[in-house]
Amino acid sequence: MAAERAIAQIDQTIICRGCQAEIPLETFIQALKVCSTCDAHAALGARERLDLLVDRETFVENDTDLYSINPLNFPNYESKLERDTKKTKLPYELLTGEGEIGGHQVNLAIGDVGFIGGTMGSVAGEKLTRTIERATQNRLPLITVSVSGGMRMQEGTLALMQMQKTAAACVRHSEAGLFYISIVTDPTYGGATASFVSLGHVVIAEPYARIGFAGPRAVAGIHEQLPDNFQKSEFLLEHGMIDCIVHRHQMQSFLVSLLDWVN
Ligand SMILES: [Zn+2]
Repeated sequence: MAAERAIAQIDQTIICRGCQAEIPLETFIQALKVCSTCDAHAALGARERLDLLVDRETFVENDTDLYSINPLNFPNYESKLERDTKKTKLPYELLTGEGEIGGHQVNLAIGDVGFIGGTMGSVAGEKLTRTIERATQNRLPLITVSVSGGMRMQEGTLALMQMQKTAAACVRHSEAGLFYISIVTDPTYGGATASFVSLGHVVIAEPYARIGFAGPRAVAGIHEQLPDNFQKSEFLLEHGMIDCIVHRHQMQSFLVSLLDWVN
């Protein structure tokens, strides 16, 4: 099975959406899905992100028994949940748990853009809140890795209220004197940006990540001239909305440095 996968990878190429370069899939995966020509950072799944950041065999997953339902009977919602569960192998839409990074115990929540665009419904909000509350109770640092299309419209107000719930949990964690690192990846929009994502004591973005509240097309309706790098990490760093930009290849070692510093 492994040999079949290896051959399939050698035979396949991907086209970089940044520079249109053709890259062998195996090379691309070894480079953690970063283009060696233009440095574009392609999306990683939640489990790929976990493997990249967390010390091997230290992760214990929490709340694997929570599943989304369709409380508003929104058309086709169940079929989308089923489709993306198969695609991401995440039946519960947000990967949460405890693990070690450079030997430091942390609580983590990691999003996956493949699950209904990384949108936050009531299950993702509840799982994130429980993760923050566990971090507070156990006096551990909190790390979130965000990728989000905003709050999930199929769940209406039940999704929107997750903004206040997660933000309030972040405040209680902070008031307990505990450290929160928010990592933001491409794309992160809407209510996620307007709640827990922006409450990190350190907010780190990957290069060229698109981060905002309303998307550029909505903003363009109000402001006629938008700069080319509007809502990109580099633009947000210039305007004080994030604290730093860290390349994916250095992200794990950067986290270890931060955690060494606060411990
Ligand atoms: Zn490229």
